[in-house]
Amino acid sequence: MPRMPIALAGIGKIARDEHIPALEDSPDWYLDAAISRHADVDGVRNFATMGDFLADPGDVRTVSLAMPPAPRMAYARQAIGAGLNVMLEKPPSPTLVEIRALAALARERGVTLYTSWHSRMGAAVEEAHGRLSGATLRRLRIDWREDVRHTHPGQDWVWQAGNLGVFDPGINATSILAAILEETPHLTACTMEVPEGRQTPISADLAFGHPSGADISGRLDWRHDGHPVWRMEIETDRGTFALIRSGSAVEVDGEEIALDGSVAEYPLVYARFAELVRGGESEVDLAPMELVADAFLIAERSIGAPFEW
Ligand code: NAP
Repeated sequence: MPRMPIALAGIGKIARDEHIPALEDSPDWYLDAAISRHADVDGVRNFATMGDFLADPGDVRTVSLAMPPAPRMAYARQAIGAGLNVMLEKPPSPTLVEIRALAALARERGVTLYTSWHSRMGAAVEEAHGRLSGATLRRLRIDWREDVRHTHPGQDWVWQAGNLGVFDPGINATSILAAILEETPHLTACTMEVPEGRQTPISADLAFGHPSGADISGRLDWRHDGHPVWRMEIETDRGTFALIRSGSAVEVDGEEIALDGSVAEYPLVYARFAELVRGGESEVDLAPMELVADAFLIAERSIGAPFEW
């Protein structure tokens, strides 16, 4: 199958860390154009804005949007309006109504819209799903801790309204949760701490209800020293295991187990996007975001110490 040209918008941290390398090695795509106000990508056509690109799209029928959610919606609407397929980084949008409207627009225009959730791609999450299927869940504990100065260095947008603060990585946990359990749990309690003068939380504690009656809870914290901990510990009537490194490996009895299949998230994200585009389908899964939106709806908030980079 010939490789398809794609444009990538928002050339920042995740574009350079993951999207560009995944596209360089992709059997399905080649990077034809980059859209970024401040950055250029070597060897491709570069445009400052979506409008500039849409004035000269060449053969490109598809764009991938890797900027933060708040500025992403206008670009997505412009691209879909012009009849292009669109992939969105997580979290897909600042609000749920906007993303539903975008999905309706994609249907109307007959193009693909894909809300990607990179942390749920790969063999480890499949392994967890397999271990849970037919088992009785007893306890699930999300432990998502990292040093925001290291994972989002100087990215002030993470503290601005319309973004998710510590739920920006935390939504990776809810994306996994919604993928591995047959029935998605619902939030029953949330407390969050917002640094003085900022708009989004630096930490949160979560409690969930689930038809199984299992004890499901989580802790998200951006004030962690050292290596990130992105761990989900899961106890069933058949035993205990853990999804570690944000859903990229499985640990049983303290030992990482060998997995069948790829664990590389972004190559799998782009492979899935190619499948959807070739099949003329969309995939708009909002369950991970609904859980986060519910956390913001029911949260008891406290104001904590100011945060400075
Ligand atoms: P980033 O580096 O701060 O931003 C990405 C790019 O978006 C910027 O370089 C900027 O490019 C563009 N941008 C920012 N504000 C904009 C605006 N108002 N209008 C138009 N473009 C704007 O952020 P990132 O870390 O790559 O994260 C981007 C997205 O990827 C987020 O949704 C995040 O949740 C997701 N993500 C991040 C990571 C991670 O490790 N950082 C991992 C997985 C997913 P120009 O200024 O050049 O246009």
